[in-house]
Amino acid sequence: MSEFQSAGLPVEQRLAMHEAVLVWLEWQARCERDAIRRLRSEAATERHRREVAHRGLGFTVEADRSGEGRTVHRGDCGFARSAEVVDAREARAALAGPAGEAARPCEVCNPLPALRNVPPPTDPWASA
Ligand SMILES: [Zn+2]
Repeated sequence: MSEFQSAGLPVEQRLAMHEAVLVWLEWQARCERDAIRRLRSEAATERHRREVAHRGLGFTVEADRSGEGRTVHRGDCGFARSAEVVDAREARAALAGPAGEAARPCEVCNPLPALRNVPPPTDPWASA
């Protein structure tokens, strides 16, 4: 209520009106802060869920601790240490390398079923 709208009322009533408006505005501000806090939390949860889902669709190719070979994991494997996620074609290519250089599939998460329908990489020298 503006000063103009309440101008004809006695001062006690004008004061009571403005105090009531202030109480309502403060309540409204608390409601908005709660809504913003809730929505920020929901957005963070959704972002985390999308990241986990994205990781689960991918794979990691990482050097073994011994440094002698490489292992292909599903992106969400608990044994994968690398944060770098590659797509199925890259994971398939790592498994298809020449003997001695080809990566091994992780025995824990077994990425092979997920790569079954991914064609092996084509050899760029095959038709040369
Ligand atoms: Zn694994």
